[in-house]
Amino acid sequence: MTEGAWKMPIGNHSALGNCTVFCQRVHIRNIYPILVDWCINRHAEITQNQAKKDQPLSLKQLAMATKLSHLYASILLLVFIHPFTAQSRTLKSNTFEFLQNLEGCQKGQNVKGLKELKHHLKNIGYYPKDHQHDIKLSDDFDEIFESALKTYQKNYRLKVTGSLDSDTIKELMIPRCGVPDPINHVDTSKQAGRTEHDSKSSKFHTVSHYSFFGGTPRWPSSKFHLTYTFSSSVQVIDMQELRSACSRAFQKWADVTQFTFQEASEGSQADIVIGFQSGDHGDRYPFDGPGRILAHAFAPTDGRFHYDADEKWSTNPSADEVDLESVAVHEIGHLLGLDHSMDQNSIMFAEIPQGTIKRDLGQDDIAGIRALYSN
Ligand code: ZN
Ligand code: CA
Ligand code: ZN
Repeated sequence: MTEGAWKMPIGNHSALGNCTVFCQRVHIRNIYPILVDWCINRHAEITQNQAKKDQPLSLKQLAMATKLSHLYASILLLVFIHPFTAQSRTLKSNTFEFLQNLEGCQKGQNVKGLKELKHHLKNIGYYPKDHQHDIKLSDDFDEIFESALKTYQKNYRLKVTGSLDSDTIKELMIPRCGVPDPINHVDTSKQAGRTEHDSKSSKFHTVSHYSFFGGTPRWPSSKFHLTYTFSSSVQVIDMQELRSACSRAFQKWADVTQFTFQEASEGSQADIVIGFQSGDHGDRYPFDGPGRILAHAFAPTDGRFHYDADEKWSTNPSADEVDLESVAVHEIGHLLGLDHSMDQNSIMFAEIPQGTIKRDLGQDDIAGIRALYSN
Protein backbone atom coordinates (compact mmCIF):
# COMPACT_ATOMS: atom_id res chain seq x y z
CA MET A 1 0.00 0.00 0.00
CA THR A 2 1.14 3.51 -0.51
CA GLU A 3 1.23 5.99 2.33
CA GLY A 4 -2.15 7.62 2.51
CA ALA A 5 -3.78 4.97 0.35
CA TRP A 6 -5.56 3.66 3.41
CA LYS A 7 -8.44 5.45 4.99
CA MET A 8 -10.20 4.99 8.29
CA PRO A 9 -9.27 2.30 10.74
CA ILE A 10 -11.51 -0.72 10.29
CA GLY A 11 -14.74 -0.58 12.37
CA ASN A 12 -15.00 -1.46 16.02
CA HIS A 13 -15.65 -5.16 15.98
CA SER A 14 -13.35 -5.70 18.88
CA ALA A 15 -15.46 -3.15 20.72
CA LEU A 16 -18.51 -5.22 19.79
CA GLY A 17 -16.78 -8.32 21.15
CA ASN A 18 -15.81 -6.51 24.32
CA CYS A 19 -19.37 -5.33 24.70
CA THR A 20 -20.62 -8.91 24.57
CA VAL A 21 -18.02 -10.02 27.07
CA PHE A 22 -18.93 -7.05 29.21
CA CYS A 23 -22.65 -7.95 29.00
CA GLN A 24 -21.81 -11.54 29.81
CA ARG A 25 -19.90 -10.49 32.90
CA VAL A 26 -22.65 -8.12 33.97
CA HIS A 27 -25.27 -10.82 33.53
CA ILE A 28 -23.29 -13.38 35.48
CA ARG A 29 -22.59 -10.82 38.15
CA ASN A 30 -26.29 -10.00 38.33
CA ILE A 31 -27.54 -13.55 38.06
CA TYR A 32 -25.18 -15.22 40.46
CA PRO A 33 -26.25 -13.28 43.58
CA ILE A 34 -29.90 -14.02 42.67
CA LEU A 35 -29.11 -17.70 42.46
CA VAL A 36 -27.18 -17.64 45.72
CA ASP A 37 -30.12 -15.80 47.39
CA TRP A 38 -32.51 -18.33 45.93
CA CYS A 39 -30.33 -21.14 47.22
CA ILE A 40 -30.23 -19.66 50.73
CA ASN A 41 -34.01 -19.04 50.69
CA ARG A 42 -34.68 -22.57 49.51
CA HIS A 43 -32.50 -23.88 52.28
CA ALA A 44 -34.28 -21.68 54.83
CA GLU A 45 -37.70 -22.79 53.49
CA ILE A 46 -36.88 -26.45 53.95
CA THR A 47 -35.52 -25.74 57.43
CA GLN A 48 -38.66 -23.75 58.35
CA ASN A 49 -41.01 -26.45 57.05
CA GLN A 50 -39.22 -28.95 59.18
CA ALA A 51 -39.33 -26.58 62.18
CA LYS A 52 -43.10 -26.04 61.68
CA LYS A 53 -43.58 -29.72 62.07
CA ASP A 54 -41.65 -29.40 65.34
CA GLN A 55 -39.42 -32.10 64.19
CA PRO A 56 -35.72 -31.67 64.74
CA LEU A 57 -33.72 -31.85 61.51
CA SER A 58 -31.25 -34.60 61.27
CA LEU A 59 -27.78 -33.80 59.90
CA LYS A 60 -28.58 -36.07 56.94
CA GLN A 61 -31.74 -34.07 56.05
CA LEU A 62 -29.85 -30.79 56.29
CA ALA A 63 -27.12 -32.06 54.00
CA MET A 64 -29.71 -33.30 51.49
CA ALA A 65 -31.54 -29.93 51.45
CA THR A 66 -28.30 -28.05 50.92
CA LYS A 67 -27.18 -30.43 48.18
CA LEU A 68 -30.51 -30.11 46.32
CA SER A 69 -30.56 -26.33 46.49
CA HIS A 70 -26.96 -26.13 45.22
CA LEU A 71 -27.87 -28.49 42.38
CA TYR A 72 -30.83 -26.28 41.32
CA ALA A 73 -28.59 -23.21 41.49
CA SER A 74 -25.89 -24.85 39.36
CA ILE A 75 -28.39 -25.94 36.69
CA LEU A 76 -29.95 -22.47 36.54
CA LEU A 77 -26.53 -20.84 36.37
CA LEU A 78 -25.52 -23.04 33.42
CA VAL A 79 -28.78 -22.26 31.60
CA PHE A 80 -28.19 -18.53 32.03
CA ILE A 81 -24.50 -18.52 31.12
CA HIS A 82 -24.69 -20.77 28.04
CA PRO A 83 -26.17 -18.37 25.44
CA PHE A 84 -23.80 -15.56 26.41
CA THR A 85 -20.73 -17.80 26.28
CA ALA A 86 -21.76 -19.10 22.85
CA GLN A 87 -22.29 -15.60 21.46
CA SER A 88 -18.92 -14.45 22.71
CA ARG A 89 -17.22 -17.43 21.07
CA THR A 90 -19.02 -16.84 17.76
CA LEU A 91 -17.95 -13.21 17.59
CA LYS A 92 -14.41 -14.15 18.41
CA SER A 93 -14.19 -16.85 15.76
CA ASN A 94 -15.36 -14.64 12.88
CA THR A 95 -15.88 -10.92 13.27
CA PHE A 96 -17.72 -10.77 9.96
CA GLU A 97 -20.70 -12.99 10.77
CA PHE A 98 -22.91 -9.93 11.33
CA LEU A 99 -22.95 -9.67 7.52
CA GLN A 100 -25.40 -12.55 7.29
CA ASN A 101 -27.99 -10.39 9.07
CA LEU A 102 -27.61 -7.68 6.43
CA GLU A 103 -28.72 -9.85 3.52
CA GLY A 104 -31.63 -8.33 1.64
CA CYS A 105 -31.56 -4.87 3.20
CA GLN A 106 -32.39 -2.05 0.82
CA LYS A 107 -31.68 1.59 0.14
CA GLY A 108 -33.42 3.89 2.64
CA GLN A 109 -33.31 1.35 5.46
CA ASN A 110 -31.41 1.71 8.71
CA VAL A 111 -29.93 -1.65 9.71
CA LYS A 112 -27.54 -2.40 12.57
CA GLY A 113 -24.20 -3.56 11.17
CA LEU A 114 -24.22 -1.40 8.02
CA LYS A 115 -21.82 1.02 9.67
CA GLU A 116 -19.28 -1.79 10.16
CA LEU A 117 -19.63 -2.86 6.56
CA LYS A 118 -19.19 0.75 5.39
CA HIS A 119 -15.93 0.96 7.37
CA HIS A 120 -14.74 -2.22 5.71
CA LEU A 121 -15.65 -1.05 2.19
CA LYS A 122 -13.95 2.24 2.89
CA ASN A 123 -10.79 0.51 4.11
CA ILE A 124 -10.56 -1.66 1.01
CA GLY A 125 -10.92 1.34 -1.30
CA TYR A 126 -14.59 1.54 -2.24
CA TYR A 127 -15.42 5.05 -1.10
CA PRO A 128 -14.61 8.03 -3.34
CA LYS A 129 -11.65 10.10 -2.16
CA ASP A 130 -13.86 13.06 -1.11
CA HIS A 131 -15.46 10.88 1.54
CA GLN A 132 -12.35 9.22 2.89
CA HIS A 133 -12.02 11.57 5.80
CA ASP A 134 -15.71 11.60 6.63
CA ILE A 135 -15.74 9.44 9.72
CA LYS A 136 -19.44 9.88 10.49
CA LEU A 137 -20.57 6.61 9.01
CA SER A 138 -24.05 5.52 10.07
CA ASP A 139 -26.26 2.43 9.74
CA ASP A 140 -28.23 4.16 6.95
CA PHE A 141 -28.32 2.47 3.55
CA ASP A 142 -27.56 5.72 1.70
CA GLU A 143 -26.59 6.60 -1.85
CA ILE A 144 -22.83 6.68 -1.26
CA PHE A 145 -23.00 3.19 0.20
CA GLU A 146 -25.08 1.97 -2.75
CA SER A 147 -22.52 3.41 -5.15
CA ALA A 148 -19.61 1.81 -3.23
CA LEU A 149 -21.43 -1.51 -3.29
CA LYS A 150 -22.00 -1.27 -7.05
CA THR A 151 -18.29 -0.60 -7.66
CA TYR A 152 -17.40 -3.59 -5.47
CA GLN A 153 -19.89 -5.80 -7.35
CA LYS A 154 -18.50 -4.65 -10.69
CA ASN A 155 -14.90 -5.32 -9.60
CA TYR A 156 -15.74 -8.81 -8.32
CA ARG A 157 -17.83 -9.70 -11.39
CA LEU A 158 -21.04 -9.92 -9.40
CA LYS A 159 -24.44 -8.84 -10.66
CA VAL A 160 -24.44 -5.06 -10.18
CA THR A 161 -27.60 -4.78 -8.09
CA GLY A 162 -26.53 -2.14 -5.57
CA SER A 163 -28.22 -4.27 -2.91
CA LEU A 164 -26.92 -6.77 -0.39
CA ASP A 165 -27.93 -9.93 -2.21
CA SER A 166 -26.65 -13.31 -1.10
CA ASP A 167 -23.82 -13.50 -3.71
CA THR A 168 -22.46 -10.13 -2.57
CA ILE A 169 -22.66 -11.14 1.10
CA LYS A 170 -20.81 -14.41 0.33
CA GLU A 171 -18.07 -12.49 -1.52
CA LEU A 172 -17.67 -9.96 1.30
CA MET A 173 -17.22 -12.77 3.81
CA ILE A 174 -14.14 -14.20 2.07
CA PRO A 175 -10.97 -13.26 3.98
CA ARG A 176 -8.70 -10.90 2.07
CA CYS A 177 -5.63 -8.72 1.98
CA GLY A 178 -5.99 -5.33 3.67
CA VAL A 179 -4.45 -3.35 0.81
CA PRO A 180 -7.26 -1.41 -0.92
CA ASP A 181 -8.35 -2.56 -4.37
CA PRO A 182 -7.30 -0.26 -7.22
CA ILE A 183 -10.29 1.87 -8.11
CA ASN A 184 -10.61 4.95 -10.18
CA HIS A 185 -13.95 6.47 -9.28
CA VAL A 186 -13.98 8.67 -12.37
CA ASP A 187 -13.10 6.19 -15.06
CA THR A 188 -12.30 2.59 -14.17
CA SER A 189 -10.72 1.94 -17.58
CA LYS A 190 -7.86 4.28 -16.68
CA GLN A 191 -6.54 2.18 -13.82
CA ALA A 192 -2.77 2.14 -13.67
CA GLY A 193 -1.29 -0.88 -15.34
CA ARG A 194 -4.62 -2.14 -16.60
CA THR A 195 -3.89 -3.13 -20.16
CA GLU A 196 -5.65 -4.92 -22.94
CA HIS A 197 -4.25 -6.40 -26.08
CA ASP A 198 -5.35 -8.71 -28.87
CA SER A 199 -3.05 -11.51 -29.75
CA LYS A 200 -2.77 -11.56 -33.54
CA SER A 201 -1.25 -15.03 -33.57
CA SER A 202 -4.32 -16.59 -32.00
CA LYS A 203 -8.05 -16.15 -31.92
CA PHE A 204 -7.98 -15.49 -28.18
CA HIS A 205 -8.56 -12.05 -26.77
CA THR A 206 -6.07 -11.65 -23.93
CA VAL A 207 -6.75 -9.18 -21.14
CA SER A 208 -4.26 -8.37 -18.41
CA HIS A 209 -5.64 -7.44 -15.03
CA TYR A 210 -2.51 -6.61 -13.06
CA SER A 211 -2.09 -3.12 -11.68
CA PHE A 212 0.54 -0.95 -10.01
CA PHE A 213 0.31 1.46 -7.10
CA GLY A 214 -0.35 5.13 -7.81
CA GLY A 215 2.91 6.78 -8.90
CA THR A 216 4.25 3.34 -9.92
CA PRO A 217 6.75 2.95 -7.06
CA ARG A 218 9.40 0.26 -7.63
CA TRP A 219 12.84 -0.76 -6.39
CA PRO A 220 15.74 0.92 -8.19
CA SER A 221 18.02 -1.32 -10.23
CA SER A 222 20.70 -0.89 -7.56
CA LYS A 223 18.35 -2.74 -5.18
CA PHE A 224 17.61 -5.97 -7.00
CA HIS A 225 19.30 -7.95 -4.24
CA LEU A 226 16.98 -7.56 -1.26
CA THR A 227 17.53 -8.70 2.30
CA TYR A 228 14.72 -9.65 4.68
CA THR A 229 14.30 -10.29 8.38
CA PHE A 230 11.57 -11.14 10.90
CA SER A 231 10.23 -9.02 13.73
CA SER A 232 6.90 -9.86 15.39
CA SER A 233 5.10 -8.31 18.33
CA VAL A 234 3.18 -11.59 18.85
CA GLN A 235 4.55 -15.13 18.69
CA VAL A 236 2.13 -17.07 16.46
CA ILE A 237 3.92 -19.85 14.60
CA ASP A 238 7.15 -21.79 14.88
CA MET A 239 9.98 -19.57 13.63
CA GLN A 240 11.48 -22.30 11.46
CA GLU A 241 8.14 -22.91 9.71
CA LEU A 242 7.77 -19.17 9.06
CA ARG A 243 11.33 -18.98 7.69
CA SER A 244 10.79 -21.91 5.31
CA ALA A 245 7.38 -20.66 4.08
CA CYS A 246 8.74 -17.16 3.36
CA SER A 247 11.91 -18.48 1.73
CA ARG A 248 9.80 -20.57 -0.71
CA ALA A 249 7.51 -17.58 -1.34
CA PHE A 250 10.46 -15.29 -2.20
CA GLN A 251 11.82 -17.96 -4.54
CA LYS A 252 8.57 -17.88 -6.57
CA TRP A 253 9.26 -14.22 -7.46
CA ALA A 254 13.01 -14.72 -7.86
CA ASP A 255 12.28 -17.42 -10.49
CA VAL A 256 10.57 -14.92 -12.85
CA THR A 257 12.49 -11.69 -12.16
CA GLN A 258 16.02 -10.41 -11.72
CA PHE A 259 15.43 -10.13 -7.95
CA THR A 260 17.36 -12.19 -5.43
CA PHE A 261 16.38 -12.44 -1.77
CA GLN A 262 18.47 -13.31 1.25
CA GLU A 263 17.59 -13.57 4.92
CA ALA A 264 19.62 -11.08 6.93
CA SER A 265 21.18 -12.12 10.20
CA GLU A 266 19.02 -11.51 13.25
CA GLY A 267 19.07 -7.93 14.50
CA SER A 268 20.70 -6.54 11.37
CA GLN A 269 19.03 -3.97 9.16
CA ALA A 270 17.15 -5.41 6.18
CA ASP A 271 15.19 -4.09 3.20
CA ILE A 272 12.12 -6.15 4.11
CA VAL A 273 10.75 -6.81 7.62
CA ILE A 274 8.12 -9.53 8.09
CA GLY A 275 6.13 -9.99 11.29
CA PHE A 276 2.91 -10.85 13.11
CA GLN A 277 0.99 -7.90 14.51
CA SER A 278 -2.31 -7.62 16.35
CA GLY A 279 -4.97 -4.88 16.27
CA ASP A 280 -3.59 -1.36 16.26
CA HIS A 281 0.13 -1.89 15.77
CA GLY A 282 1.38 1.61 15.09
CA ASP A 283 1.36 1.92 11.29
CA ARG A 284 -2.07 3.63 11.03
CA TYR A 285 -3.63 0.48 9.56
CA PRO A 286 -4.92 -1.52 12.53
CA PHE A 287 -5.82 -5.17 12.08
CA ASP A 288 -9.38 -6.29 12.78
CA GLY A 289 -9.17 -9.46 14.90
CA PRO A 290 -10.10 -12.91 13.55
CA GLY A 291 -11.41 -13.02 9.95
CA ARG A 292 -11.75 -10.41 7.20
CA ILE A 293 -8.31 -8.76 6.81
CA LEU A 294 -5.46 -11.31 6.89
CA ALA A 295 -2.33 -9.29 6.17
CA HIS A 296 -0.98 -6.19 4.45
CA ALA A 297 2.26 -4.96 2.95
CA PHE A 298 3.60 -1.61 1.82
CA ALA A 299 4.64 -0.50 -1.66
CA PRO A 300 8.35 -0.07 -2.61
CA THR A 301 10.63 0.80 -1.05
CA ASP A 302 9.01 0.60 2.40
CA GLY A 303 9.52 -3.13 2.97
CA ARG A 304 7.00 -3.75 5.80
CA PHE A 305 4.89 -6.92 5.57
CA HIS A 306 2.51 -7.70 8.45
CA TYR A 307 0.45 -10.83 9.13
CA ASP A 308 -2.64 -10.40 11.33
CA ALA A 309 -1.67 -12.37 14.44
CA ASP A 310 -5.35 -13.05 15.24
CA GLU A 311 -5.87 -15.40 12.30
CA LYS A 312 -5.45 -19.18 12.47
CA TRP A 313 -2.21 -19.56 10.49
CA SER A 314 -0.86 -22.85 9.22
CA THR A 315 1.65 -24.25 6.75
CA ASN A 316 -0.80 -27.08 6.00
CA PRO A 317 -4.21 -25.45 6.47
CA SER A 318 -7.42 -27.23 7.41
CA ALA A 319 -10.79 -25.75 6.37
CA ASP A 320 -10.73 -22.94 8.95
CA GLU A 321 -7.03 -22.05 8.72
CA VAL A 322 -5.12 -19.68 6.45
CA ASP A 323 -2.08 -20.75 4.46
CA LEU A 324 0.98 -18.83 5.58
CA GLU A 325 2.91 -19.35 2.33
CA SER A 326 0.05 -18.38 -0.05
CA VAL A 327 -0.37 -15.08 1.76
CA ALA A 328 3.41 -14.52 1.73
CA VAL A 329 3.57 -14.92 -2.08
CA HIS A 330 0.75 -12.33 -2.38
CA GLU A 331 2.24 -9.80 0.05
CA ILE A 332 5.71 -10.06 -1.55
CA GLY A 333 3.99 -9.03 -4.79
CA HIS A 334 2.97 -5.79 -3.02
CA LEU A 335 6.50 -5.33 -1.61
CA LEU A 336 7.80 -5.47 -5.20
CA GLY A 337 5.24 -2.96 -6.48
CA LEU A 338 2.20 -4.89 -7.70
CA ASP A 339 -1.27 -3.81 -6.62
CA HIS A 340 -4.30 -6.11 -6.74
CA SER A 341 -5.35 -7.90 -9.89
CA MET A 342 -8.96 -8.75 -10.63
CA ASP A 343 -7.91 -12.02 -12.25
CA GLN A 344 -9.12 -14.68 -9.81
CA ASN A 345 -6.33 -17.05 -10.84
CA SER A 346 -3.60 -14.56 -10.08
CA ILE A 347 -1.68 -14.47 -6.82
CA MET A 348 -2.41 -10.73 -6.68
CA PHE A 349 -6.19 -11.32 -6.47
CA ALA A 350 -7.10 -9.88 -3.04
CA GLU A 351 -9.21 -12.70 -1.61
CA ILE A 352 -8.20 -16.13 -0.35
CA PRO A 353 -10.73 -18.41 1.35
CA GLN A 354 -9.63 -20.29 4.46
CA GLY A 355 -8.21 -23.73 3.73
CA THR A 356 -6.98 -22.66 0.27
CA ILE A 357 -3.45 -23.28 -0.95
CA LYS A 358 -2.51 -20.91 -3.79
CA ARG A 359 1.26 -20.59 -3.89
CA ASP A 360 2.09 -20.39 -7.62
CA LEU A 361 2.27 -17.21 -9.66
CA GLY A 362 -0.28 -16.90 -12.45
CA GLN A 363 0.40 -15.61 -15.98
CA ASP A 364 -1.09 -12.27 -14.97
CA ASP A 365 1.36 -11.92 -12.04
CA ILE A 366 4.35 -12.72 -14.23
CA ALA A 367 3.19 -10.31 -16.95
CA GLY A 368 2.63 -7.62 -14.29
CA ILE A 369 6.01 -7.86 -12.56
CA ARG A 370 7.85 -8.02 -15.89
CA ALA A 371 5.95 -4.96 -17.17
CA LEU A 372 6.82 -3.04 -13.98
CA TYR A 373 10.56 -3.76 -14.28
CA SER A 374 10.81 -3.84 -18.07
CA ASN A 375 12.95 -0.74 -18.39
ZN1 ZN B 1 -3.06 -7.55 -1.33
CA1 CA C 1 -8.26 -10.16 10.57
ZN1 ZN D 1 0.74 -3.19 9.65
